Amino acid sequence: MTTRNMEDYLEAIWNLQDKKGYVKAKDIAEKLEVSRPSVSEMIKKLSENEYIVYEKYGGIIFTGKGKKLAQEIKKRHTLLTEFLNIIGVDEQNAQTDACKLEHDVSPETITCLIEFVEFINLLPESSNWKENFQEYLKKRGLLERSSNKNKKL
Ligand code: MN
Repeated sequence: MTTRNMEDYLEAIWNLQDKKGYVKAKDIAEKLEVSRPSVSEMIKKLSENEYIVYEKYGGIIFTGKGKKLAQEIKKRHTLLTEFLNIIGVDEQNAQTDACKLEHDVSPETITCLIEFVEFINLLPESSNWKENFQEYLKKRGLLERSSNKNKKL
């Protein structure tokens, strides 16, 4: 069982690795805006739980188990972002708010939101569900700010 705090770290490590190719404790501290001792403490915890391997002068790498969990966390984030996009939230806010939802909303609600997105994605193209909803938002004057990204929805 992972705590949400552990998941935040795993997500940050995943994103840093993605962006920079390597992960140092210093980078995690910057990214999550936490102190170096907090990072050290969490690195110890994540190592003990065999999610990561930490080499003092090297960096942090995922174990197989850690990679699998990090991918799940990332997928959840992507689907939450997608949900927010669908309901008309612009990309930047969607990214930021997806992370907040991950923390502040019950796991049951998160599951429902994710299932909703998966369901929507299963609808046939011809249903034009997303387009119709985007049209509706536009008519209500709620979509000017993100009109250029509607195409990809
Ligand atoms: Mn996130």
